[in-house]
Amino acid sequence: MAMVSTEVLSRKVLAMEESATLKMAQLGRDLAAKGHHVISLSLGEPDFDTPDHIKEAAKKALDEGYTKYTPVPGLMELREAICRKFERDNGLHFTPAQIVVSNGAKQSIANLCAAMLNPGDEVILFAPYWVSYYDIVSMNEGVPVVVAAGIDQDFKVTAAQVAAAITDRTKLIIFSSPCNPSGSVFTQDELEAIAAVLAPHEQIYIVADEIYEYINFSGAHVSMGTIPSVAARTITVNGFAKGYAMTGWRLGYIGAPTFIANACTKIQGQVTSGANAFAQKAAVHALDADLTATYAMRDAFQKRRELIIGLLEQIPGLKVNHPQGAFYLFPEVSAYFGKSLGDQVINDDNDLSEYLLAEAHVATVAGEAFGIPGCIRISYAASEEDLREAARRIAAALGKLK
Ligand code: PMP
Ligand code: GLU
Repeated sequence: MAMVSTEVLSRKVLAMEESATLKMAQLGRDLAAKGHHVISLSLGEPDFDTPDHIKEAAKKALDEGYTKYTPVPGLMELREAICRKFERDNGLHFTPAQIVVSNGAKQSIANLCAAMLNPGDEVILFAPYWVSYYDIVSMNEGVPVVVAAGIDQDFKVTAAQVAAAITDRTKLIIFSSPCNPSGSVFTQDELEAIAAVLAPHEQIYIVADEIYEYINFSGAHVSMGTIPSVAARTITVNGFAKGYAMTGWRLGYIGAPTFIANACTKIQGQVTSGANAFAQKAAVHALDADLTATYAMRDAFQKRRELIIGLLEQIPGLKVNHPQGAFYLFPEVSAYFGKSLGDQVINDDNDLSEYLLAEAHVATVAGEAFGIPGCIRISYAASEEDLREAARRIAAALGKLK
């Protein structure tokens, strides 16, 4: 039999990390398949189903024959609906020529990096960053420049930190607000201060990932693209996965300068073509409908946030943040480093996350994957019953560490 060697694989894929969020979700599923009752707080996915009226719109679209290829950047009526949404919710003014619809916001970001990066171009990532930014940048031969903000600054990078990270090679800045994994939300003042730093650097483009826009408990979502000094260089990323509980539908989009939108369309046209036709029709309906279901989900997340914060704060050693958005907590757990159970020593957040899975059957994600070791990410998009049980198990497992 011929020898099989991974050496045939590209250097690109060999250098790449597996997505930590997806990996932990799979490890949780594997353990559950062995008969354990695993509580998965690893995957960033609403536990709600897509609202019925959106599902009905997809069924209708299928019956109407939306079963064919669509234009690569998306159906014109969806791009028009996205422009209306940007105007209505964000005060952003785009034309359909500036919109590209993709198979999830993940592909939107991958398109952007492929369209904009040359080898050696630097990309400033605000840490904690969403896990895939780092590898998407690296895959496209960009150099991630990580600017880190710990729990003491509510995981929010300051304008001064951004200023210190800029070089002649800086091409892009990517951040999410509300933030995955911290849940932190940038205020108008904070974004304006960052914009003021970026304003004189005309070669730098900003990728504002606003996919958690609707899951905001402060009630004040601010789009970087509304700040005049950087508006022309801001690409706004959004999608349907979180606010409409449509993770499996795979639909995301950007609003961008036309030449960047065209470049993303060119790439998408060679790699995947237009997104799913009947999903796009349902997305038009979702955007034009009222947001009652979205706000009901947001309110449920807010209730769970209070619950899980209250429970975790009772556990000695955990430093728990109080985020204003998304459905994540990002507690600092370093008080447990150096402790052990039997011969199992907890040296870092990876060890702790693995320990919680093995010992408590609770899946989380280590902070290192998001550029902030010392923390773990807890997705509280789970039922209140599961959150109570998870907190009980985490407390018991941590209590065994000496
Ligand atoms: N950006 C952020 C900040 C995310 O958390 C995610 C994960 N869903 C994405 C982008 C990708 O979203 P999608 O499922 O639309 O690809
Ligand atoms: N974005 C979600 C998360 O952070 C979904 C998984 C993924 O695409 O990484 O868990």
